[in-house]
Amino acid sequence: MVSIEIYGARGSYGTDFKQSRGFGNSTTCLGLWLDKEVIFFDAGSGLPLAQETMRERSPEAVTIALSHLHHDHTSGLLGTEQMYFNPKGVEVDIIGPYKIFTGLNLEFAKFVSPIPLDILTNLRQISSLPPNHSFRTQTGQEVTSFVAGWHPSNSGLIEKDLHFDFHRDYGVQGYIIEAERKKIVFSTDMEFRYYRDLDNNIIPFTKDQTQARINQLIRAAYGADLLIMDGQYNELEYEKFRGYGHATFEGVYEIALAAKVKKLIITHHKPGRSDTDLFEISRRLNRRSNLEVFIAKQGSVIEV
Ligand SMILES: [Zn+2]
Repeated sequence: MVSIEIYGARGSYGTDFKQSRGFGNSTTCLGLWLDKEVIFFDAGSGLPLAQETMRERSPEAVTIALSHLHHDHTSGLLGTEQMYFNPKGVEVDIIGPYKIFTGLNLEFAKFVSPIPLDILTNLRQISSLPPNHSFRTQTGQEVTSFVAGWHPSNSGLIEKDLHFDFHRDYGVQGYIIEAERKKIVFSTDMEFRYYRDLDNNIIPFTKDQTQARINQLIRAAYGADLLIMDGQYNELEYEKFRGYGHATFEGVYEIALAAKVKKLIITHHKPGRSDTDLFEISRRLNRRSNLEVFIAKQGSVIEV
């Protein structure tokens, strides 16, 4: 059975706002549980909540696929016991975009920890996975990366170098996994209508550029059994948050329809968005068509 367990569904930063405790306030982390292994999509502050299930299920392989390196997608590494030891001897693989090792060390040094990354002693490898390449987990499961939308890249990674184009043009990547006859696609922190240039000016993409990027995502997600996407804002909020690297839940819904996916999980909720509002969004979107929409809720399990 393929299932997704949600450990963190909040965007940008963890909080403890009372009005949003029902859906949880931990940041992005979703565990894709396959027969023998777990593949985590991002390692935000929700990751430590996976410790218990990992103890219970003892996966033969643990892989963490990072979309990018911002602290709301990496800070959970620090508080998760399996990053330091595992009595069953299973070491953790981390994969992510270009320059992941440098980038993670930068994030740790600046935001996540006073101690460098090598504090995490149960890592087998940290590997950069270029877009459209595949990684094989320790049990042989293939994980493929792709790019589509834009996200502001880590400032320390943007200097002119071999991978400058990736960090300037995309700054984030998604993942496709086909396992046990199910296709699962993860795509977070992607913006399609605006971006920031290197001087931090907010610039609109042309209509064609926007469509081309959306088409990249539709191609990656086409026919998926499950698409997981960041829908941090509504259309009105988005006007104030252009160039922050996020989509709207209305936009995400349209993309999921165009990609003919069976289920959609909308995650990376705006910090403080209330449980009442999230229920209302779920109700509204689920009335529109046959597409099954789940508003990601910390602690919930969704069968794929
Ligand atoms: Zn984020």
